[in-house]
Amino acid sequence: MTADDKPPLSDSALVLFSGGQDSTTCLAWALTRFSRVETLGFDYGQRHRVELERRAALREGIARISPAWRERLGEDHTISIEALGAISDTALTREAEIAMNVDGLPNTFVPGRNLLFLTFAAALAYRRSILDLVGGMCETDYSGYPDCRDGTIRAMAQALSLGMDRAFVIHTPLMWIDKAATWRLAQELGGDALVQLIVEESHTCYLGERGRPFDWGYGCGECPACQLRAAGWERFIPPD
Ligand code: ZN
Repeated sequence: MTADDKPPLSDSALVLFSGGQDSTTCLAWALTRFSRVETLGFDYGQRHRVELERRAALREGIARISPAWRERLGEDHTISIEALGAISDTALTREAEIAMNVDGLPNTFVPGRNLLFLTFAAALAYRRSILDLVGGMCETDYSGYPDCRDGTIRAMAQALSLGMDRAFVIHTPLMWIDKAATWRLAQELGGDALVQLIVEESHTCYLGERGRPFDWGYGCGECPACQLRAAGWERFIPPD
């Protein structure tokens, strides 16, 4: 469901904010549309836990870009879901080579991860009197994760609304755009300052590497997440 489908129903939003490129762009998107924006991160024992540590720097950086954004940026929340790591045996939560499974999904797939995230997000939003959830799910150039699909998100919004008796809206501003367009959206929302902030402070690499700086940011440069981010950057700013 995109912003174009429905105007905001309340003045507050909760952004699923992991500290990566996509969720940082979603945070900026929400800050242009809602008068109060809270953020939520999940700790599930991911190998790229370094992304959680980027969140504070990104929030501070984004507040510096615009006085209006500073005013709108509300509380930050972190929820620990250790059970997710315990029940899923994937390359995201254990030391293993990232590879494709026989079913065509990469072994970074954590089954139902977004379903759990959205359920926890809605439970928190309920308590915070927030109806609008914002997430960076995308089915354009994703890795085939079925819980990123628009149909999944729509069904989830309906299930959460019925199950909690609240009219939740799940906004997915990146659903139909690719990584290059995500960089362009960041530029539209926050200019070069936001693009630079995302390059320097956001984290994408599945292996949690931040050693090597590339034009598009830090990472190993080889895992699927790094390759996707690099390819998008090169379509956004073609190399000389
Ligand atoms: Zn990487």
